[in-house]
Amino acid sequence: MPELPEVETVRRRLAPHVEGRTIEAVEVRDPRLVGGDDPRRVERRLRGRRVRALDRRGKYLLFRFDGDETLISHLRMTGNWLMPAAGEPPHTRAALVLSDGTALWYADARRFGTWDLLADDAAEAYLAARLGPEPIGPGFDGTVLRDAFRGRRAPVKALLLDQRLVAGIGNIYADEALNAARIHPDTPAGRLRRPQLDRLADEVRSALEEGIRSQGSSIRDFRSPEGGYGSMQERFRVYGRDGEPCPACGTEIVKTRSAGRGTHICPACQPRPRRRGMRRAPGALSGA
Ligand SMILES: [Zn+2]
Repeated sequence: MPELPEVETVRRRLAPHVEGRTIEAVEVRDPRLVGGDDPRRVERRLRGRRVRALDRRGKYLLFRFDGDETLISHLRMTGNWLMPAAGEPPHTRAALVLSDGTALWYADARRFGTWDLLADDAAEAYLAARLGPEPIGPGFDGTVLRDAFRGRRAPVKALLLDQRLVAGIGNIYADEALNAARIHPDTPAGRLRRPQLDRLADEVRSALEEGIRSQGSSIRDFRSPEGGYGSMQERFRVYGRDGEPCPACGTEIVKTRSAGRGTHICPACQPRPRRRGMRRAPGALSGA
């Protein structure tokens, strides 16, 4: 599933081709893409619109149009925007032609991706209801995580995956960041100490930034709009590397489950948290 680095890769590669251009023709071939909306109505609203900017929030790609409307595109499992020179990709759900003749396809094998065309203020409300702060933006640090995790007993991995707390992290980058920060994914989030929160914020940011530099990870489906593959999968510390040595200590990486998801950890770098009572004072466990 595309996470923040993959969506940001799409945005960066696509932006020069769409910004400042007008949608000449559009065909929504899969009604499911636009939910309850009438595909013909969505086509009429998109036709003739000029793309002012291509933005991103979390895992959402945002086409900002003149006339104060935004198309919110969520790729979900397998959605992607493509303009391969080779021609139309399989599983095309929508096709566009821009004013300079550029053809653009939205392809989606599993069909979970969505388009929502909203007035700008409604788009902001839509995003604000679903997304917490951007982890690669300015100001993302241990304080943000402390506020998000305060009093929460849920496993830290589950909260990292909650888009309302931090936007854009999915299973891959959660595993990568938790390993680099040496935190077990099942640690109750509210129990993390300040140095751990600072470390986790740093490692979340650097994992995502490395993902962007690598143009995302292409494990199964992800391709850049020109059809290229990302290389982040070659740089994974733990994700998908069960049985291989931990890059920090050489211990064998194991695959386990946390937050209902397949999870990769180094058992030495990320020891399972002790049960209640280990909070602060070493004396708290006297007699144990
Ligand atoms: Zn290790």
